[in-house]
Amino acid sequence: MAIQNYDVAVIGSGISGMTAALLFAKKGKKVALFEQAPHLAPLFSGFDRGGVHIESGFHYSGVLGKDEIGGLLFKELGLNMPVELCSKDGYDDAYLLKSGRLFKFPFGRQLFEQKLIEFFPNEKDGIKKYLDLAYSQLEKIPFLNFHKREYKSEEFFYFADDKTTLSEVLNDCFKDEEIKSLLSFSSVLYGVPPSKVAFVLHCCCSGIMFETVWKIKGGGAALVKEFKRVIENSGIAVFCNKKVVKIEVEKDKKKLTFADSSQILCDICVSSIHPKEFLKIAPPETYRAKNVERIQSLPETDGFFVLYGKVKDGFRVDTNNVGFLTGDSFQKDHKNAYYINFSNSNPQAVCAVMAVDSDEKLWDIPQNEYEQKKKEISQNIKDEIKNRKPELFDKIEFLGIATPKTQKRFVNYYGSYGIMHTAESANILPITKVGGLFVVGQATIAPGLIGAMISSFLLDKIIDRSLENKNV
Ligand SMILES: Cc1cc2nc3c(=O)[nH]c(=O)nc-3n(C[C@H](O)[C@H](O)[C@H](O)COP(=O)(O)OP(=O)(O)OC[C@H]3O[C@@H](n4cnc5c(N)ncnc54)[C@H](O)[C@@H]3O)c2cc1C
Repeated sequence: MAIQNYDVAVIGSGISGMTAALLFAKKGKKVALFEQAPHLAPLFSGFDRGGVHIESGFHYSGVLGKDEIGGLLFKELGLNMPVELCSKDGYDDAYLLKSGRLFKFPFGRQLFEQKLIEFFPNEKDGIKKYLDLAYSQLEKIPFLNFHKREYKSEEFFYFADDKTTLSEVLNDCFKDEEIKSLLSFSSVLYGVPPSKVAFVLHCCCSGIMFETVWKIKGGGAALVKEFKRVIENSGIAVFCNKKVVKIEVEKDKKKLTFADSSQILCDICVSSIHPKEFLKIAPPETYRAKNVERIQSLPETDGFFVLYGKVKDGFRVDTNNVGFLTGDSFQKDHKNAYYINFSNSNPQAVCAVMAVDSDEKLWDIPQNEYEQKKKEISQNIKDEIKNRKPELFDKIEFLGIATPKTQKRFVNYYGSYGIMHTAESANILPITKVGGLFVVGQATIAPGLIGAMISSFLLDKIIDRSLENKNV
């Protein structure tokens, strides 16, 4: 049988892979999308258990309004995606254990600033300085603003090379450890400790929630369904249970080999998978040896150990995440981070999440050791919740456990957000040394729905620019 030939093959069907596939289809290309898991977008789809839908990789996001960058990207992709604002007065609850107070995170600069001053009156000047700095970073990043003003094509590729860390900014603005702890709580949204994350990345992932915070109606699964509809209408061929195990270069074509030994040819290949997994399957000429070394040495984000379940009848928690912050050391709070996420379905789904080491060696272990480890960590999380909020603990019916090993099975990496974006390490570039072999995904821009979508829009711009240059 003749080997199938595509203009473009996209490896991985997460948000970035689906976005890339659609953008190439819009250019009139014959596109195929290959996913190793049994269904499309395993991270975003979530799953049903005990009569509730559990969200596995999406709860909320900033800037999804129709006049904001996320809404604009949905529109560009032809996605009709209803969204709703979270509660403006408190989308997340942070328990400040040291002072025994509950801080409900509001959005909107004025509200946020006022609330912070109300809680930390002695830090008034620092609060203003911190917010001014964050807003000025957010204003500077072209790919978060191109819906607001015109950019020259090369400006689109600017990503601030500012290595100042979140810790440095917080230490410069504040004395009180509790406010530092509070303002670094959102580092759980990108998995990098405050001492390692560049302030600009913090702004890209958390700062985008200063003005608006949105839920998608129907959650991550509804977004995947809408992507699926548009993908089908675009004539993109979708293959699940198709793990790519090798990419080879044959003249000006790329040949992909799958775990079931089948093969296809393509002119352009786009990988959206974890960069270290990409190294395992990519042709040797993809990167210079130094770059291979660099990618291999990139640290992994912590993994998530999740107890999922549902809220018992008649009880509702009116917030997204409930987090517990010791306030003794904001660095330690990150490492010991645990929070409980509540869906807005009825009954509410619950995910009690604790950050754990994601090293493969700790999870790829004999079954009996793994079961023992699961038991111990589950008990630890339950004890923590019971101690901190016994009234909440009693209202949760636990239904199951997901570990970094579970995540590996579904998306082929252990760390919650793949590799860590540290202030010291440059992002993975979309282009490789092999013509027509590209990389998108959370490792190239930032984790999250917005980061993953933008990574593919960035590649689209790169390709447009190279076509423009060829025409000149
Ligand atoms: C618990 C959790 C909660 C989160 N909550 C939020 C949130 O509330 N808001 C938000 O914006 N973000 C959230 N995120 C982050 C967000 O889900 C991710 O950053 C984003 O989905 C990453 O998209 P991606 O396309 O880069 O990668 P992925 O979704 O990981 O896509 C890569 C795909 O490639 C496939 N693959 C891997 N290897 C191969 C291979 N060899 N062959 C074929 N296919 C392969 C994988 O199965 C996977 O489907 C959360 C993440 C986690 C883990």
